[in-house]
Amino acid sequence: MRMMKKTIEKILDLIESTQRILITSHRDPDGDSIGSQLALDGFLRSLAKTTRIVNQGCLPLRYVFLDPQKRIENFNSVPKEKNFNFKPGVVFVLECPSLDRLGEVKKIVPAESRLINIDHHPDNEMFGTLNYVDPKAPAVGEMIYSLLKEYGFAISPMMANQIYAAILTDTGRFGYSNASARCLSNCAELIRLGADPKILTEKIYFNHSLAFLRLLGTILQRLEVKNGGKTCSVTIDRNLLSEFGVNNKEIEGIVDYSLFLGGVEIGLLFTETEKGKTKVSLRSHNAFDVSKLAKIFGGGGHKNAAGCTLNYDLAKAKKVIFDQILKFS
Ligand code: 5GP
Ligand code: MN
Repeated sequence: MRMMKKTIEKILDLIESTQRILITSHRDPDGDSIGSQLALDGFLRSLAKTTRIVNQGCLPLRYVFLDPQKRIENFNSVPKEKNFNFKPGVVFVLECPSLDRLGEVKKIVPAESRLINIDHHPDNEMFGTLNYVDPKAPAVGEMIYSLLKEYGFAISPMMANQIYAAILTDTGRFGYSNASARCLSNCAELIRLGADPKILTEKIYFNHSLAFLRLLGTILQRLEVKNGGKTCSVTIDRNLLSEFGVNNKEIEGIVDYSLFLGGVEIGLLFTETEKGKTKVSLRSHNAFDVSKLAKIFGGGGHKNAAGCTLNYDLAKAKKVIFDQILKFS
């Protein structure tokens, strides 16, 4: 704990001595990475720093409201590396276990800049000049909150919402084992600072399109149960989204349905992202460590939530993953 406090102090010193700051996170940002980056950005800008936030991939629709000023730029739409004329003295890398997980953004991180690595993945590669890594933190959002508290910063209601959203989504609405007493008391503080749980829940979870719900109906009809009811998987093939007219920015969260069936220990979502390529999202209840499974296939994550991408079509991807699960069981 004292070590972390020291690291936070060093981070604040580094911020003080730097004007231009780049903030980034893993490719295809999620609720924690989005909320954390935006709150940090608000803090740095209020210190009159010049900042940019660049991620590879666009925001899932459910999180767009957290970024009313459109601060997060998608790497695919910013000028390509050679023209990226923003030379940061410091780069914050949030919620990202390795530089490879930045995807294309890695190309615009100058070799000479100092990296501040803030993460809660247990397999973080400690690539930073400063590494503030706490696998016990439920979300990076909570770590950003600690940083702002240490500074004594007056957190705005918008920033409280951004941090609360990061924690809300990474704890599965306070339903996972990482929803500790400390986490909930931090969230109580955030509510006092202006976070609005009702609006956040409505915008993030109860805001789907009719097309999405129809798609979900079909996905659930096709749900597959294996291993005597211990494994359950859902599948999105390439044509399904266009068939239902659903934007792929709306499908984040479908993997959760793989754990809805009583008795299931491992839940999976297979998404055919392009021909011959399948993204696998893995979830589990406490006992089974899905990050070990994801790592075998070049991915990673946490014990109960992990992912990987296979260069196989859906059928082959399912076969290799299910074969591996049998070996583990
Ligand atoms: P999701 O299934 O929601 O995409 O990801 C769940 C967790 O697994 C997140 O913590 C995410 O960072 C991690 N994850 C997902 N895909 C990959 C991957 O390809 N590589 C690594 N290292 N981690 C992943
Ligand atoms: Mn996270």
